[in-house]
Amino acid sequence: MTSNPSYTTQELKIYNSISGKKETFTPITEGNIGMYVCGPTVYSNVHLGNCRTFISFDLVFRYLKYLGYKVRYVRNITDAGHLENDADDGEDKVAKKARIEQLEPMEIVQRYTLDFHQVMSKFNSIAPSIEPTATGHIVEQIEIIKKIIDNGFAYESNGSIYFDVQKFNETNDYGKLSGRNLEDMIANTRELTAQSDKKNPQDFALWKKAEPQHIMRWPSPWSDGFPGWHLECTVMSTKYLGERFDIHGGGMDLKFPHHECEIAQGEAACGQTPVNYWMHANMLTLNGKKMSKSTGNTISPGELFSGNNDILNKAFDASVVRFFMLQAHYRSILDFSNDALEASEKGFYKLIDAVKAIDTLSANTKTEGFDIEKWTTSCYDAMNDDFNSPILIAKLFDAVKFINTVKEKKATISASDLAILHKTMHGFVFDVLGLVNTAETSSDLGDKLTGTVELLITLRAEARANKDFATSDKIRDELLEMGIQLKDSREGTSFSLN
Ligand code: AMP
Ligand code: ZN
Repeated sequence: MTSNPSYTTQELKIYNSISGKKETFTPITEGNIGMYVCGPTVYSNVHLGNCRTFISFDLVFRYLKYLGYKVRYVRNITDAGHLENDADDGEDKVAKKARIEQLEPMEIVQRYTLDFHQVMSKFNSIAPSIEPTATGHIVEQIEIIKKIIDNGFAYESNGSIYFDVQKFNETNDYGKLSGRNLEDMIANTRELTAQSDKKNPQDFALWKKAEPQHIMRWPSPWSDGFPGWHLECTVMSTKYLGERFDIHGGGMDLKFPHHECEIAQGEAACGQTPVNYWMHANMLTLNGKKMSKSTGNTISPGELFSGNNDILNKAFDASVVRFFMLQAHYRSILDFSNDALEASEKGFYKLIDAVKAIDTLSANTKTEGFDIEKWTTSCYDAMNDDFNSPILIAKLFDAVKFINTVKEKKATISASDLAILHKTMHGFVFDVLGLVNTAETSSDLGDKLTGTVELLITLRAEARANKDFATSDKIRDELLEMGIQLKDSREGTSFSLN
């Protein structure tokens, strides 16, 4: 991946949800970034809404890397502790699905983790650096609960451990991320039911004693039980990124209670706030309503790629859908519809065709009709402004227009500008936006053929280096006969299909 010009010459601004402002981004350790994003709860297939959030953070990950940062990106898999209704009572989502399907919980976890990985790779999303699971970190969760108890911010009740929100709020600020205030929360909540173990309704579980029928359970000093949902993210983020790290992301709907509780746990355990920049991605809607597993208002990636659904007139390619999502800023709501996807499909192919056409342009003595340097700067400026992909795409279309005018011989481009145009377009379209030229590379076979031609190019270069021109010409001529044309330039040899 290209890393020039590096972060040292760019000023990146990130909208920090906790301050409600765009702030200049400065990492804790120069050149290095720790980023944590809440991953999926693997109890069913991911829907497109989930995918949008992960694609939003894939864009962030890609741009940070493009700027030359070394990024450690941690995205967890929630495979235990996430209860129905996202609350402290009820059945574990994974265990419930296992019961219904008569499978082991870990069979459910495996099935939907694989599905998630397959879908994300279809969307050309780069795998995180570490993908830890909640069940793999029970020991660390128990340790952090002990710390929170020792620091006086949690209490035991009937074998369960609860976080004492009111106690915490005496010295810290519970609600600072979601803009809530504890007094209002108290005023708006009903009394606790008599059988509740909590001192106050706002308290949340760090450890829950398992009911006899609860199958996902582990021993602890307090009871056989399981960790609270919010705790796993505190544990896995601090374990791999440190007690304080740069960026924490997730969907907007996780701000409260999940992320608010993560802040409280981090501050209570470590005495410092865990995250410098909180980022929240907005929702994908369908018919104006949030896509959501619980209401059934969803479309799955499988239904989308096959065209087998009631919403769309035809199947759409993963790259087109990715492009559709990136045409909206990650903090804006995006509504999914057939018309919007059809419009994106046209735009996507127009963009890809123009990128391909760059290779066919011939250079002139000077550039007329376009300021390449200013345009390149404007592409960086768009992304530096809180990852503004729709503005970036608009800038890329300015270049598309210019490329097409040069093609029609109504404008000219110099050799050095042509090289910059090539590098910048390829960098932003493929590396940063993560789009794939599906027309040529969508199939597995396409990938293999590309690899084969590249191998032949290497063999030809070796033959030429050995002055074995008979072999090098044979490779070139026979490929040409098959409709594959090799092009030599100073950067090396590329190929195109005739
Ligand atoms: P879950 O598997 O339910 O924990 O959700 C995984 C991620 O998807 C979380 O970051 C959610 O905020 C996000 N998410 C859920 N629904 C949507 C939606 N309709 N649009 C965008 N993101 C969503
Ligand atoms: Zn989380």
